[in-house]
Amino acid sequence: EGQATAALVLRSLRAVADLLAEQEEELGRLDAIAGDGDHGRGMTRGSAAAVAAAEEAAARGVGPAAVLLAAGDAWAAKAGGTSGALWGAALRSFGDQLPDHRAALAGDLAAGASAALAAVQRLGRAEVGDKTLVDALVPFVAELRGAVDAGASGRDAWRQAAKAATKAAEHTAQLRPRTGRARPLAERSVGTPDPGATSLALALNRIGEVLAG
Ligand code: ADP
Ligand code: MG
Ligand code: MG
Repeated sequence: EGQATAALVLRSLRAVADLLAEQEEELGRLDAIAGDGDHGRGMTRGSAAAVAAAEEAAARGVGPAAVLLAAGDAWAAKAGGTSGALWGAALRSFGDQLPDHRAALAGDLAAGASAALAAVQRLGRAEVGDKTLVDALVPFVAELRGAVDAGASGRDAWRQAAKAATKAAEHTAQLRPRTGRARPLAERSVGTPDPGATSLALALNRIGEVLAG
């Protein structure tokens, strides 16, 4: 039964990789304003490598955790850059929460998202307000948990949470980076949203569309 979830994971990763490839130039432009301009390139390479690794794993018939472990390792190895390492850790930790012997439930998604956030903060040490992808991930996790606890289905909760992530990512435009490569040019970044928060919100919304079927 975990096969159903593994297939959904694979569909989600493919959709995210396609979206990031479409957004490569725009994400690079955002990162070039105060960072080094490689965010679009890194996300495209990382997500493409993740899809290839996930396809290989899924073809072996493994469950969702093993698919996301392979995807996360490939993403971190091929993306380069800070965001690649964080995405890799997030995917692996998310996968750890998905069961192998039944389809994933709404509560599994909320547990996965919490674990992904914990991994990102363990690795990157960023807090809310530092102008990183943590600024989009924290409200996503909170909204997802709240909606699931209130009885929403996994797909509805995810879509509601992804909208919160979009709002939060847009809100980062007002912030000054306190960590990462953009910090030296912090003033220049005011008025532009954080690239990592922007790509995360895009990806989460795309996954919401996949879950909605
Ligand atoms: P790099 O900064 O190494 O070139 P990318 O350009 O791919 O990597 O990613 C930049 C994004 O990474 C930033 O916009 C921010 O969202 C995210 N980021 C940077 N440092 C951290 C951190 N310590 N914790 C969480 N996210 C971070
Ligand atoms: Mg960069
Ligand atoms: Mg870089």
